[in-house]
Amino acid sequence: VSYENEKKLRKRIQTEMKSRLEFTRIVVHDLKTPLTSIISSSGVLSNIAADGKYKALASNIYESTMNLNIRLDELLDMAQCEVRDPKLNKSRFNIKEMLEHIISIQQEICNTNHIVFNIVIAPEVTFIIADEDRLKQILDNLIDNAIKYSADSGIISINISHDQNNVLFSISDSGIGIEPGEIKNIFKPYYRVENRQRKLQGLGLGLSIVRTYVKLHGGRIWVESECGKGTTFLFTIPQPPSKATPA
Ligand code: ADP
Repeated sequence: VSYENEKKLRKRIQTEMKSRLEFTRIVVHDLKTPLTSIISSSGVLSNIAADGKYKALASNIYESTMNLNIRLDELLDMAQCEVRDPKLNKSRFNIKEMLEHIISIQQEICNTNHIVFNIVIAPEVTFIIADEDRLKQILDNLIDNAIKYSADSGIISINISHDQNNVLFSISDSGIGIEPGEIKNIFKPYYRVENRQRKLQGLGLGLSIVRTYVKLHGGRIWVESECGKGTTFLFTIPQPPSKATPA
């Protein structure tokens, strides 16, 4: 491909990405308007309902719609990332608290499915510096998958440690695993492994979001898996020793 043709091709891709972004913006905006009213109504309902079945149902609607709202934000953020590298909004925060919050939201489904968590965080990484919202989305997606692709009982181990220059995260499940031939595909947008025993919901977008956000931080992500035994996702977030500080 000549230099001129390459330039034209790049321009065309850029224009296509921009119109995709415009389309996504409109769709996300139109979907969010009714969603906001469901969120506020179900939030009020779950607060005023007496303890019991109806309160649980209202909370369920509230949590699920909040989740959908986050997915829509991710979709728009991904479309924006395709057009230009977005700025990271870095701050120093407590990673243990973030993890506990994510797990508390999933607690009910884990209790029902007999899934237990085993969390080990090295003391020197209690606080880290990163884009808090995006790191939460990375962990949300990986933990969500670990639960979704686990059998009806299992252990999810989360390990956070620190080496010379990075915080290393490892999220390990004892679930169905991924066929070796599929590993190269799973990070592609909208890719889903077919022919699974259980029909599980999903858009196939989670891991491509995770990879985009890890790369934005300058980190690396990889996966180790064995069919029928389980899967471990590992990723790094660059962090000089002085930045990752004890509590
Ligand atoms: P989704 O879960 O919506 O299908 P993802 O992008 O999160 O999309 O994942 C892509 C595919 O990778 C999934 O369809 C699933 O087959 C596989 N996968 C992801 N995480 C796991 C896991 N922890 N165990 C087994 N398979 C997984």
